[in-house]
Amino acid sequence: MDINQKALALGSKRSVIRELFEYGNKRKAEVGAENVFDFSIGNPSVEPPPVVTQALKDLLNTENPTSLHGYTSAQGDYGTRRAVADSLNARFGVGLTADNIYMTCGAAASLSIALKAVLNAGEECVTFAPFFTEYTVFIENAGGKVVVAKPEEKNFQIDLRDFKSKINANTRAVILNSPNNPSGVVYSADTVRRVCEILRDKEREYGKIIYLIADEPYRELVYDGVEVPYLMNYYDDTMVCYSYSKTLSLPGERIGYIAVNSAMKDSQGVYLAVCGAGRMLGYICAPSLFQQVIKRCIDAKVNVKPYKENRDLLYGALTEYGYECVKPDGAFYLFVKALEKDAVKFSERAMKKDLLIVPCDDFGVTGYVRIAYCVTADQIKRALPKFKELMQEYKNN
Ligand code: PLP
Repeated sequence: MDINQKALALGSKRSVIRELFEYGNKRKAEVGAENVFDFSIGNPSVEPPPVVTQALKDLLNTENPTSLHGYTSAQGDYGTRRAVADSLNARFGVGLTADNIYMTCGAAASLSIALKAVLNAGEECVTFAPFFTEYTVFIENAGGKVVVAKPEEKNFQIDLRDFKSKINANTRAVILNSPNNPSGVVYSADTVRRVCEILRDKEREYGKIIYLIADEPYRELVYDGVEVPYLMNYYDDTMVCYSYSKTLSLPGERIGYIAVNSAMKDSQGVYLAVCGAGRMLGYICAPSLFQQVIKRCIDAKVNVKPYKENRDLLYGALTEYGYECVKPDGAFYLFVKALEKDAVKFSERAMKKDLLIVPCDDFGVTGYVRIAYCVTADQIKRALPKFKELMQEYKNN
C-alpha cells in the first residue's frame, strides 16, 4: 500500500454534484446545450458587481505588477484584513481588528483551517442536516468525527431536542450554515438564540469550550428583507467562515476569510492556531490580486434580483404542479421532496428528461433533491414543462 487509501478513495469518487455536472457537460456535447437542463452546481449566474471588474482593471493598470502578484503575509495583507474587520464592526457591532481575520482561498479553505485549528483527534463536530456534503471530508481530515443533528421536517429549521442530545463531553465544534445549502432556509433569530443557549449550558456542564463555526458563503443572498443573525452576537466562542464565491460571484478566484471573535475565550490563541492550521494545510497567502480587489470593494454586493425572480418562478410553478418544498429565504437552491422514497432513483428518472437535479442523501437527508436555480430564467422556463411531465408520470403510475 504505497499511497493513502482514504485520499485514493476520495479522488476516485467524485461528489454527487460534480458527477452530475460532468455528465451534463457530456450530454450537452451530444444533444446540444439548449436541450440539457442542468440544475446541478452552485455556480453563480449573476455577474460580479461592476466595481469588482473595475477594481481589477485599475489594479492591473496602476499597481506595480511585482508587488501586486507577490506574496502577502501568510494570514493575508494587513490593509485587506483591516478593511474586513472594519466592515464587520460597522455592520454587526462586533469588535474585531485585523488580527482577528485570516484571509483564505474561499469557504472550503476557511472551514478546513477552522476545523483543523480546534479539533483534537477523535473529537466530535456536530453539523445540522441538511448540510454541504464536503463537511464530512473537512471534519475527518482534521481528525474529527461527524455527528449529524436532525432538522424539523416541516420547515427545515433545527430540531433542538435532537441537537441537545447530540452534544456530549467529546463535542468540540458545531457547524451552522445559514442561508443553508441545500435547503435555502435562513435559521431564525429564535432558533439561533436557542442553539446558543444549549451550547452555553453544555460548555458549563462539561467545563470546556465548544466552538461554533458559522459557514456563511450565502450571507448576502437573501430575499424579501430576511435578516441573517450574526452568530458572534449570540455566542462568544464563534468563528465565521466566509467566502466571496457566491456573494460577489467569484467562485473560481478562491477568496474568503475566517473571522475569530475577539470576545472568544483565548481569542488570540485560537487565531494563532488558525495561522498554524493554515500552515499545516498549505493554505497561506490567499490570492494576492483578489485580496486587493476585496480591499477596494469591501461592501460591494451582487444584484440578487435575478435569483429572487428565479426562486419565485420555480417555487411558484413546482408547487402548482404538486411538488412539496420549503420556500427558500436565501442562497439559490430549492429543496424538493422526491416523488418516490429513493431520491437517487427519482433523480435518475428526471435525468431521462435531461433534468439534472441532485439527490440529497449525501447532504444527510433522504428523500429530497436539490435544484440549483443559479441559471438563466430562460432555462427555468424551458425546463418547467419537463417538471410538469415528470409529476404527471408519477401520478399516472
Ligand atoms: N460551504 C457551503 C455551504 C457551500 O455551499 C460551499 C460551496 O458551494 C462552500 C462552503 C465552499 O465554498 P467555496 O467555493 O468558497 O470554497
